Amino acid sequence: MKYVLVTGGVVSGLGKGVTASSIGVLLKACGLRVTSIKIDPYLNIDAGTMSPFEHGEVFVLDDGGEVDLDLGNYERFLNIKLTRDNNITTGKIFQSVLEKERRGDYLGKTVQVVPHITDAIQDWIERVALIPVDGKDGPADVCVIELGGTIGDIESMPFIEALGQFSYRVGAGNFCLIHVSLVPVLNVVGEQKTKPTQHSVRGLRGLGLTPNILACRSTTVLEENVKLKLSQFCHVPGENIFTLYDVSNIWHIPLLLKVYLIEPDNVLYHEELSFICYRVLVRFFFWKQDQKAHEAILKVLNLSVTKKPALKEWTSLAELSDKLHKPVRIAMVGKYTGLSDSYLSVLKALLHASVARHKKLVVEWVPACDLEDASAHEKPEAYKAAWNLLKGADGVLVPGGFGDRGVKGKILAAKYARENRVPFLGICLGMQIAVIEFTRSVLGLKDSNSTEFDPDTENPCVIFMPEGSKTHMGGTMRLGSRRTYFQIPDSVTSKLYGNQSYIDERHRHRYEVNPEMVPSLEKAGLSFTGKDETGQRMEIIELPNHPYFIGVQFHPEFKSRPGEPSAVFLGLIAAATGELEAVLQDNSTRKMPSTNHHANGNGTVKYHHQNGGAHRGNGVQNGIYTNGNGVHL
Ligand code: GLN
Repeated sequence: MKYVLVTGGVVSGLGKGVTASSIGVLLKACGLRVTSIKIDPYLNIDAGTMSPFEHGEVFVLDDGGEVDLDLGNYERFLNIKLTRDNNITTGKIFQSVLEKERRGDYLGKTVQVVPHITDAIQDWIERVALIPVDGKDGPADVCVIELGGTIGDIESMPFIEALGQFSYRVGAGNFCLIHVSLVPVLNVVGEQKTKPTQHSVRGLRGLGLTPNILACRSTTVLEENVKLKLSQFCHVPGENIFTLYDVSNIWHIPLLLKVYLIEPDNVLYHEELSFICYRVLVRFFFWKQDQKAHEAILKVLNLSVTKKPALKEWTSLAELSDKLHKPVRIAMVGKYTGLSDSYLSVLKALLHASVARHKKLVVEWVPACDLEDASAHEKPEAYKAAWNLLKGADGVLVPGGFGDRGVKGKILAAKYARENRVPFLGICLGMQIAVIEFTRSVLGLKDSNSTEFDPDTENPCVIFMPEGSKTHMGGTMRLGSRRTYFQIPDSVTSKLYGNQSYIDERHRHRYEVNPEMVPSLEKAGLSFTGKDETGQRMEIIELPNHPYFIGVQFHPEFKSRPGEPSAVFLGLIAAATGELEAVLQDNSTRKMPSTNHHANGNGTVKYHHQNGGAHRGNGVQNGIYTNGNGVHL
């Protein structure tokens, strides 16, 4: 097993996770099998109890692990399925050491950070690296380990010490340390500054770790003299210093690691050119320069791989995404609209589906609270803006969530979509919201509610699941991959999923549709087209006489992949652009690949180029156009 450790320096938010995933993509493209481990040096056992406001979304794995969102990046980029143990936290390590101590396994010794915690970390890494994650037998060739946080954080000290020992344990030629750092560009002249990187490398060395490679994040291509300086001061050969400048979408990053483009700015003295002439050059001519990051990494790892990285699909995906110009507007009616990381996988799933339909995704963030009647008086401007955004959208999405804030607004959004025949997708809480709305408006049970929001309601249409725990929050939900059986063969969702009899999707919920209410809801026209194996748990709802009104109790976003969008997201985008019939037709004639990573055999959507000039405007971030809020790499 070979190990690639990715650390970060200077500031957080450098896109270390995406860089590490992209390195994985590049190595995979060279024919190597790649797995990954994310280390989060916090004391929580897992991300399950952490607020998406603070920490971004909680990603859910097949085995029910509630993990850091970076594991989502790894799964999407490398098309692998990770386990909960692939996310190490300080909490997990301490828990395992303390359990051993209570059992008496340390035989009277004083239990200490060094060697007991540091040994536990190393043993964990060695054990987990061997778990196959790509559907093939036997361990992967390379394990990419990402250390969360920034070098110098107190929390990460035991991990740094453990990883220093680990590099010695596995020996030279089996361990490659890539340090992702920032090279800020100062003032209008655009001078790139190396000092922050120098300091962070010094910090790394002081802690006993020697970087083999520097990956430098900067707004522009790293200048040659800057590279030289970094090489000299950080003792890293020039060919091991990668430039990672800002790109239009994250699918370019694996490509950028192979070849980068130099604007004329970097090879000419642009003072000699007039501004217009310079802009014309920038616009039309780029110089290509080999970066060949894989060669540098393979050399450090003592691997001789002759295969050139096969990145054709990535290239077409990245280029196609840049060229899209026909917009599809999706209103995201949520609670955490201030931090797009809270809905990262939903955004990615929307993006995968939009690109597959050759549409430019425009996400309209609609804070659910602003739609509520109360805000009409309290903040009329926000109320008006929210309703305008909702009414201007081609489709409405109500994502998952917990707690009653914004619930009224979400119910209003579902009502609006149902009554006005606007394509709607409700995910987890979003589906429960749609059921509440239907029970109130169509069945006429005005006080009907979920017991999550009104424990004393006379007409509970969504109830607490019997197997849940009311006293413990961590890891006590219905979590991970569960099976849904289609009830009606030609329902929209069954067609979208390629007429499979069942699908496996990931779950994370405590409440469910009240099975006692199902007959009357069905009679009133709500169709329960997917149920669990008992037939008692509702998994999918559909409104048959609506262009697209779907609710799912599971989280399909977690299994969406670039080039292989999730079925119900594809349906939403297709319905929002008036192309649902074509997609359903296409699905019924296409043979579903059986090797597909989706156990359900969801169809692969092929990408092909379409003509149209590059279109960049304000608010574009990584291929997703938004109404102001940033979108995480
Ligand atoms: N709060 C709801 C439940 O626990 C929905 C959860 C979710 O959307 N993930 O069932």
